Amino acid sequence: MTISVLDLSVDELKQALTDAGQPAYRAAQIADWVYRKGASDPARMTNLPPALAGELVVMTSRVAQRADSSDGTIKLLLELRDGERIETVLIPTPDRATACLSTQAGCSMACSFCASGLGGLRRGLTAGEMIEQILHLQQAAQRKVTHVVFMGTGEPLANYEPTVAAVRAIVDPARLNISARRVTVSTVGLPRQIRRLAGEDLPITLAISLHAPNDALRRQIMPKAATASIDQILAAAEEFFHSRNREITIEYVVLAGVNDTNVCAEALARIAHRLRCNVNLIQYNPLPEGVGERLPARYRRPSAESMRGFAQRLRARGANVQVRRSRGLDAAAACGQLRAQAGEDGRKGAEEQGETE
Ligand code: SAH
Repeated sequence: MTISVLDLSVDELKQALTDAGQPAYRAAQIADWVYRKGASDPARMTNLPPALAGELVVMTSRVAQRADSSDGTIKLLLELRDGERIETVLIPTPDRATACLSTQAGCSMACSFCASGLGGLRRGLTAGEMIEQILHLQQAAQRKVTHVVFMGTGEPLANYEPTVAAVRAIVDPARLNISARRVTVSTVGLPRQIRRLAGEDLPITLAISLHAPNDALRRQIMPKAATASIDQILAAAEEFFHSRNREITIEYVVLAGVNDTNVCAEALARIAHRLRCNVNLIQYNPLPEGVGERLPARYRRPSAESMRGFAQRLRARGANVQVRRSRGLDAAAACGQLRAQAGEDGRKGAEEQGETE
């Protein structure tokens, strides 16, 4: 019998252990090794009987490749037990270490600017596979993760239960013990799942990848996501916001000449006002050469100056705006280059986190 430690709460682990004829207190010992000491090899959990250690499974993936960028960003390409490959990223600052997690191998959303959906959806990740990303990053950086953003590959709310189970493991004092205030789930905006998330007892931040302030433009930029109207998404987001006074942010990838017009600034500012939320502007990251040739649209990266201009026009209309600084663009850490170089479909990077300008 094997026990998949990372998929279980401490109570569930206790149950699994007693079912296997072990004393329940072993659960606390195992949780201490895995979550507090960061030791993932059961054979090295010296206070466990070897026979029990042999039944425990902690890590199911291995680091296939690592890329370090000069700003300290670490990107890992992980190979899962069935050979699927995913990327996970650590974005450090002096007082923060933010893990950016993937929730699916591939993605079904096929947004026109994003490489993650190029090969379609391969499969959803388990909660354990999400938690493993944090453990791998902590081992790679020799540092504790302090913040978590679900902004890697995949649509978290399209893989709802495992994602929520992973959030629970992250905020659980007996497991990763990271405050829910430091966890952000990013979504293209699936109204039904946003409402469901509002009903969970989790005061996390919800980020909505809007990218267009009207339905017609949004249908061009992200056709699948736009099957829900902006109005439906905002109504669900308001419910989320009011359910516990939780925070909402709008993510907005700026595509030069496409969604950064005056008309867009006007409409986006109105939406930000309605949600009383922050707007994060992300400079579009062109895909690496040779990746994404099959994408329906090619876009241009806006200059830093036109990013500032767009931000200024939003601020003039009363919006709270942050311009995200790109991190980890060198050392093959940008834009799915790891996976692309490994000979598969490219992935968009999740390196647009961290500092604001
Ligand atoms: N599916 C979720 C979470 C993953 S995407 C979502 O869409 O929110 C995380 C963020 O990266 C999204 O805002 C996404 O739109 C953005 N992104 C994707 N491709 C990008 C690119 N080429 N340049 C800049 N940002 C990109």
